[in-house]
Amino acid sequence: MKLIGLTGGIGAGKSTVTDYLIDRGFHVLDADKISREIVLPGSDMLLQLAELFGNGILQEDGGLNRKKIGSIVFSDPEKKEQLDRLMHTKILEVIHERIFQIREESCHDAEAIISPERAMRNKVIFIDAPLLFETGLDKSVEEIWVIDAEDEIRIRRVMERDGLNRDEIIKIMNYQMDRTEKNRRADVLLDNSGEKEALYRQLNLLIQKI
Ligand code: ADP
Repeated sequence: MKLIGLTGGIGAGKSTVTDYLIDRGFHVLDADKISREIVLPGSDMLLQLAELFGNGILQEDGGLNRKKIGSIVFSDPEKKEQLDRLMHTKILEVIHERIFQIREESCHDAEAIISPERAMRNKVIFIDAPLLFETGLDKSVEEIWVIDAEDEIRIRRVMERDGLNRDEIIKIMNYQMDRTEKNRRADVLLDNSGEKEALYRQLNLLIQKI
């Protein structure tokens, strides 16, 4: 099974692409979702974080106080590195466990013998990871698809999606890896500056080649 990493800056269209792939039955792992799951109340990771950053990072309901931990690491680069290292290592571990599970299940997928469509879906696992390069996950995948759109278009779409103002979005964009650098590292560059239909057409061509 081929591993394909999907990435792109905020508002580029990652969720739009993964929704499309999920609708077509493909296996998609969501790194952001995993990063939230590993810090659920009672998790080992949350205990480790509380040891490292103090119980102040815990909410009354036992969940992670993201604002608090954010404010701690914002002013302490060393602590930020520790947090990133811990989180990224665990995310990678969970992703590798899930890949193993999917591979096991697909080996015993009787339907794939009679359904060519199903057999095609079992050929690939997509990993949706906004921080694909930053976490080092790019080294675990065989192909990298970068979804890209012009900055102004991304700003407009995120303003509409999240209700953030322009400055807040630019701040997030500046914090992410440079767009040109991301695009340079792509094996496949999906242009999402146009209509969604145009994006889906590019995806259909790529899917046919899997
Ligand atoms: P990401 O997951 O990369 O942050 P999304 O897929 O959520 O980006 O897209 C950002 C917003 O823009 C969403 O509301 C989405 O529906 C919308 N969007 C994505 N692609 C297009 C497009 N080609 N045309 C119009 N709106 C789009």
